[in-house]
Amino acid sequence: MNTELLNLFPKNYMASRERFRGQITHVQEHWPNAELHQYALAEHPELTLDWLRAEALTQPEKLIILTTGEHGAEGIVGAAMMQLFIEEYLPRLNPQNTGLLLVHAINPWGMQHNRRVNSNNVDLNRNFIGDGKIFIPAANPEYRPLHPFLNPQKTLRGSLCSKLEFLSKLIKIMVSPGQSALRSGMLMGQYEFSQGLYFGGGQIEEETWVMVDLYRKAVQPYAQILHLDMHTGYGPRYQMSLVNSPTERRAPTELKTAFNYPEVVAAIPEEFYAIQGDMIDWVYLLVQTEFPEKMLYATAFEFGTLGTSLPAAIRSLRAMIFENQVHWHGALREATARRVQADFSELFAPTEKTWRAKAIADAQQAFNGILRDQGFF
Ligand SMILES: [Zn+2]
Repeated sequence: MNTELLNLFPKNYMASRERFRGQITHVQEHWPNAELHQYALAEHPELTLDWLRAEALTQPEKLIILTTGEHGAEGIVGAAMMQLFIEEYLPRLNPQNTGLLLVHAINPWGMQHNRRVNSNNVDLNRNFIGDGKIFIPAANPEYRPLHPFLNPQKTLRGSLCSKLEFLSKLIKIMVSPGQSALRSGMLMGQYEFSQGLYFGGGQIEEETWVMVDLYRKAVQPYAQILHLDMHTGYGPRYQMSLVNSPTERRAPTELKTAFNYPEVVAAIPEEFYAIQGDMIDWVYLLVQTEFPEKMLYATAFEFGTLGTSLPAAIRSLRAMIFENQVHWHGALREATARRVQADFSELFAPTEKTWRAKAIADAQQAFNGILRDQGFF
């Protein structure tokens, strides 16, 4: 096992941010004009969105955007891939015609507190509502009947009795008519229950505004844009999936060949699941409506963690529900709260060495395939 590669995974938000900021000197060896920027959260000024930006030195043609930590807790794996990209791929790009936008922790509060959501409980990947659309609380009627199951309004009891209660409720939902709505109703996002899972917010969040501004400014000089966004939690355990926007014109089968990459899916209900307020969808919308002459390929790296079996799906749902329940209502015992936190961490930042090594290998294969296909080297 290559321990140097495993060191790519940071311990926590603060250590990761410090390392990221330190990369500026390395980037400046290739792009002397590179700049490090920060945005401090209004209510948590010690937490920042950090980004490295560099314009092409002579002839702006291509822009590469790498983003991480939109779902805070997923930022540990995201930061590993960012560091990998900076060390291995950045030196192979052409600074003369290529610009960079590298974003560390879109959701710094979530990364610091090991939550997916921001401090307002908003899932930022349900918050990029554009195209003149507004936030409608009743936007997802399938979620409402699931609310009591997904968001228990009480203190979490001992872990065994809570697990049994969870399972009996789950079985009731699964045998009732309309059980197919469980996954879609939940994952699409909801705008009604502000303490619930997959809450997309009631307005555009601060972090979302920062990103919207950043994207709009960054893409302007470039004819071709590549955007790679790092996530964890979905898909097979030892296989990263490229998850494309439904807006992407090329089919997954075509892209598998073009990238020489085994797992490419589109974010449509048959292959993945539908999402409202998705960031990548918003970037496509930005380019289509404001810069229709530009070329864009944007995708999410989804590093699978627990896997796709039914028991894995149940474990993963339980980890999400318990973590949110403990956050709002506490746990009867401290030990239960700790176990819930540990299960949640494993769901979004697995610690197993074999998992981490495979995640790096998959990212290398995808970076190689995509950067070559898109003409970056
Ligand atoms: Zn995510």
